[in-house]
Amino acid sequence: MPVTWDGDDRAGWQHWTAASIGLAGLAAARHWAEDELATLGEAHRIDALLVVSELLDNAYRHAGGPVQLRLLRRHDPCEITVAVADSGSGAPRMRTPDPRGGRGLLLVDRICSAWGVSHHDDGKVVWGTLGCAESGLACTPSRDDNGAGRSR
Ligand SMILES: [Zn+2]
Repeated sequence: MPVTWDGDDRAGWQHWTAASIGLAGLAAARHWAEDELATLGEAHRIDALLVVSELLDNAYRHAGGPVQLRLLRRHDPCEITVAVADSGSGAPRMRTPDPRGGRGLLLVDRICSAWGVSHHDDGKVVWGTLGCAESGLACTPSRDDNGAGRSR
């Protein structure tokens, strides 16, 4: 269910800015996201990386390439928001998947508890939020976590 973007107001975003918007840039963005999400539980991490990949792929295929990938992690409840900015003005559409792809937004809609598109003067941001609790992905607290719940 698309809802209005309010993510820019929240603190704690990690940003990856594309040096190139080609396939090499996509691979670099995915690697960056893997590192950023390394402390998540496996199920949550895999789903979050799926959303990362689909949003990057959408921007690459339909909007001239991703300009920036942003990740926001909240700890209580455990929740990841993925946002991809591109310079395209069109709205992404859910369409029937075909053999060449197209499952992107359907997948995002199924995995994410909320997602949406916000339009800006210089492009748009497509984003999705997935928490563990409602999807049964509960992450176990990690020693390496630097967020809430750390005891030292
Ligand atoms: Zn989690």
